[in-house]
Amino acid sequence: MSQQNQSPFETNFHDVPRRAAVLGASDLHIEPFEGRVVIRVRVDGVLGAIQEIVDAPYIERFLQQAKRACRFDMSRIGTPQDARFQASDVPFDLRASLMPTLFGEKIVLRLLERDLIEANLLFASAQRLVPKNCSECAREDFDAVPLVNAVFGEQLVPMRSGGCASCNHTGVRGRVLFFEHIARETVPETNQKQLVSCGSLKACALEALKKGEVNAQNASAFY
Ligand SMILES: [Zn+2]
Repeated sequence: MSQQNQSPFETNFHDVPRRAAVLGASDLHIEPFEGRVVIRVRVDGVLGAIQEIVDAPYIERFLQQAKRACRFDMSRIGTPQDARFQASDVPFDLRASLMPTLFGEKIVLRLLERDLIEANLLFASAQRLVPKNCSECAREDFDAVPLVNAVFGEQLVPMRSGGCASCNHTGVRGRVLFFEHIARETVPETNQKQLVSCGSLKACALEALKKGEVNAQNASAFY
């Protein structure tokens, strides 16, 4: 990724949980190795590196900053610790574990939903009947493209029904369960891109949630 190998002066530790949250990570690992620190996040069960700090003078400084930010006892070195804290710009509680390793103290952060009620509402709303988009007048929703692509990748195209004669210019024909609202199809003229019909970003988020492409944390960011 583009932010690899930056010094902690350029990417402060406090920015790391926010980046993990944006990626929809369930946990974040800060692990020292010989001459480097690797920052990894787990997204949809897969652990991947998002940054590696190799700048010798800054490694220890970064680890100290992380340890302090996680509310660990700075006077205890090389013994396991647990802590819990909130970061102001991340909508999660963060539970942190510190473990001694051969090359220093490894920190694992788990991102816990701050508001489980919100997540439950998200699932409940998915079971509701909602107006069905008219397929006759469905067009790509260009306004929503940057956001949808950023979260779901470029293979998804958000659609919006603008209204036509067959839907009496309402953009709506009938009602469906919220999840059925979103139908994917392959359209040859758009380079085999998969289309996702959705009335709103909320629908996109719920669809991806159902398919396991995102978790409740990053779906709720769109809710
Ligand atoms: Zn129509």
